[in-house]
Amino acid sequence: METLKDKSLFRQQCLIAGSWRNAASGASLPVTDPATQHVIGHVPDVSGRETREAIEAARAAFASWKAKTHAERAALLEAWHRLMLEHEEDLAMILTVEQGKPLTEALGEIRYGASFVKWFAEEARRIGGTTIPSPTRDRRIVVLKEAVGVCAIITPWNFPNAMITRKVAPALAAGCTVVVKPSEFTPFSALALGVLAERAGIPAGVINILTGMPADIGAEFMANEIVRKISFTGSTRVGSLLMRGAADSIKRLSLELGGNAPFIVFDDADLDLAIEGAIASKFRNGGQTCVCSNRILVQSGVYDAFAARLSARVSAMTVGPGTGDPVDIGPMINAAAIDKIDRHVEDALAKGARILSDRPAMPEGKQYAVPLVLGGATTEMLLASEETFGPVAPLFRFETEAEAIEIANATPFGLAAYFYTESLKRSWRVAEALEFGMVGLNTGSVSTEVAPFGGVKQSGLGREGAQCGIEEYLEMKSFHIGGL
Ligand code: NAD
Repeated sequence: METLKDKSLFRQQCLIAGSWRNAASGASLPVTDPATQHVIGHVPDVSGRETREAIEAARAAFASWKAKTHAERAALLEAWHRLMLEHEEDLAMILTVEQGKPLTEALGEIRYGASFVKWFAEEARRIGGTTIPSPTRDRRIVVLKEAVGVCAIITPWNFPNAMITRKVAPALAAGCTVVVKPSEFTPFSALALGVLAERAGIPAGVINILTGMPADIGAEFMANEIVRKISFTGSTRVGSLLMRGAADSIKRLSLELGGNAPFIVFDDADLDLAIEGAIASKFRNGGQTCVCSNRILVQSGVYDAFAARLSARVSAMTVGPGTGDPVDIGPMINAAAIDKIDRHVEDALAKGARILSDRPAMPEGKQYAVPLVLGGATTEMLLASEETFGPVAPLFRFETEAEAIEIANATPFGLAAYFYTESLKRSWRVAEALEFGMVGLNTGSVSTEVAPFGGVKQSGLGREGAQCGIEEYLEMKSFHIGGL
């Protein structure tokens, strides 16, 4: 991290009650650069003990944070937002070094992450209640919106900045205090956000950040009755474990889980748009995105043309370290990610798929995946039912609209779906038939702070962003006033 302009953003301690701390046991975890596998730093490997302390700190800070006016909380969030943008280059560098994505993408993520802080600073001022017409003359009924309380926030490695702000900003705007546990692969982006939150004047204990292996921290989050809500982004497996663990103390839950997005190209699509959308939605972050298209369904009439054009683009992709000369695709997060991609490609080839793209020049290093287009994909292949989470674009040929809808919906997941057509009637028919929380028509992007983000089926519970995002951190209290 020698190139950072502000080196104090690179913290190797966790944040509890306003103090930067090591683990009580002295244990620490190394964090490696996925491009080189070199250790870039260490973070404390905390246990249940520090987790309890962080939860207590969040409880202690809750009353005074909740008592601030919405405008006071908004002003602090605005200050945090300004600092994020002032330090965007350093934040992007930290993100790329620990996560791998190309620097320009990392910068995009910092701005996207900051947009949630700004958005929810504005929404803080608009938390209203309702007045309900009374059933009797001598009564009045109002509904008050109040902060849920202490929230545990658990986030994944693929968006180490934005997945935190998308949760912490609405929580703080609503008057909640938080204990954040970032992924053990990418803790430094979270800790840098903590440094800036402190600098913005957000009081001690409002944001606590724990680092380390997840089992002990997660167990305390689930068992501790002070924690009133868990907001989680990650795999469906861990989401379901947290849901079971949260049941005993009936905690509220927001779950943003895995996806298996279909990307459907109909014969009447604008192919220029479809190619751009496929590149954006399949290959950003090297394909390691929950809303990435996982299955590209192409209608027979345009299949060959689409396959040829996509293959030409993918063959020309550049692969390399995210911090060097600009590249399209950086390293994958770890060796397990490479193994999964290899397994999916080998399985597909064994079941009859063919590689249509040329192998681009590949850098030295173990954690790079070859971007490729696979023709002749079928629903029996592993990549049809599991997230590949890599730069592999499998093309499935289909004949009719009904067949495309059937294949698209044949998954327990329901996060994002995309389709391309120039027909107005088909647009409505298909949008309504797709069982997904987010649908893109003629666009490969559905992520913005202004629209609800979230899935149906096993892709999760609740929505983030948009006006509704703050409701996830608010309780309703009906207040009945009698004897008037
Ligand atoms: P993961 O579920 O392995 O880990 C996510 C987080 O959960 C990490 O912080 C991890 O340390 C923590 N965790 C793991 N075991 C835990 C436990 N027992 N108790 C408490 N916390 C625990 O997922 P990942 O590999 O980091 O992320 C990739 C997954 O996230 C993919 O499935 C992807 O689709 C999904 N994702 C979803 C969204 C969305 O918005 N829906 C966004 C990004 C990623």
